[in-house]
Amino acid sequence: MQKVWKKDSKNLLKINSLVFAVFLIGISIVVALLVMIFVRTPPSYYEYTGFTLGTYCRIVVSSKKGSKNLAEIIFNELDRVYKKFDPNNPSSVVSKINSSDDWIDLDEESFVLIDAAMKFSQITEGAFDPALGNLIKLWGFDRIAEKVPTKVPSQSEIDEILKHCGVVRVELDSRTRRIKLNDGVKLDLGGIAKGYALDRAYQIAKEIDPKCTGFIEAGGDIRILGPKFGSRPWVIGVRDPRKSDSAIGYLYLTEGAVATSGDYERYFIVDGVRYHHIFDPKTGYPSRGAQSVTVIARDATTADVLSTAGFVKAQEWEYVVLEYPRLGGSVLLVDGDGTIHRSPSFSVYERPR
Ligand code: AMP
Ligand code: MG
Repeated sequence: MQKVWKKDSKNLLKINSLVFAVFLIGISIVVALLVMIFVRTPPSYYEYTGFTLGTYCRIVVSSKKGSKNLAEIIFNELDRVYKKFDPNNPSSVVSKINSSDDWIDLDEESFVLIDAAMKFSQITEGAFDPALGNLIKLWGFDRIAEKVPTKVPSQSEIDEILKHCGVVRVELDSRTRRIKLNDGVKLDLGGIAKGYALDRAYQIAKEIDPKCTGFIEAGGDIRILGPKFGSRPWVIGVRDPRKSDSAIGYLYLTEGAVATSGDYERYFIVDGVRYHHIFDPKTGYPSRGAQSVTVIARDATTADVLSTAGFVKAQEWEYVVLEYPRLGGSVLLVDGDGTIHRSPSFSVYERPR
């Protein structure tokens, strides 16, 4: 009888340990699930830098479809757009257009970009002008990779070259998708191509992975892919135009784009006067009245164009601050004296959210 009891108690012990083990495994699974739900590991970011668009580009991206691969696809797209529209690349579309005084057939992408540039010229009252190729060449700001120029052209050279500049001398036929440059005019899409490249790269990234996050930066212009860790804003410094290593403010962006045009990017100084690469199409001289203009917009093309145009219109700040938000841009201007002006909508992005 005692023997039987001993056997039973042994069995009972075995059953109890089994129940306990199952209970432990169950608890562990529940804890693991709770950790997965409440403490989601933040996505890790892959960073890629490379030289294209005549500047350093930085891609910071996180994607479940493969961050490294997506970063490379984004970079290749930036480079494709650059090579296609670079007037210094002999096989670019712009070189082909610039070397002819006859009608030229355009592919759809080139037509859409040039058409957009012409429309931006209209709505910015000519401050943005994609047909300043000859003027930019006269001043020596056409070759990005080479040294900055050192000579100021004469007034008669400027007067003469302005006869061969400007969108009024460009004919674009939307029916046949063709373009014709009159009076030896030359296109220069340097004020829009960077923004357009950022938008194209954004679109391609989103087609591959709509949930990817991060940002794409080309020489200070930025297109946000998505919020940091899925919900937090990216903090972007606005460069002090006179001190390359300090910021005059910070922006908090979860979407959209920001672009800055500055007189510090490419310039030379003669007799204490700074001559830079952003031209007033009316005078043929580097535009006066701003050290930098920063624009936040829904897309990088708008931000890029409006920062260049806003720079040209700096002396008409009252107009810019009223009109540019209507065109889709929030503006910050550092004027010639270094005083900062901002449109009310710009301040919204300067508050941490
Ligand atoms: P960004 O740095 O974006 O302001 O672009 C400056 C570039 O745009 C210059 O290097 C020129 O290629 C071109 N550009 C200069 N002045 C103008 C202008 N008034 N309108 C359009 N493009 C311009
Ligand atoms: Mg620009």
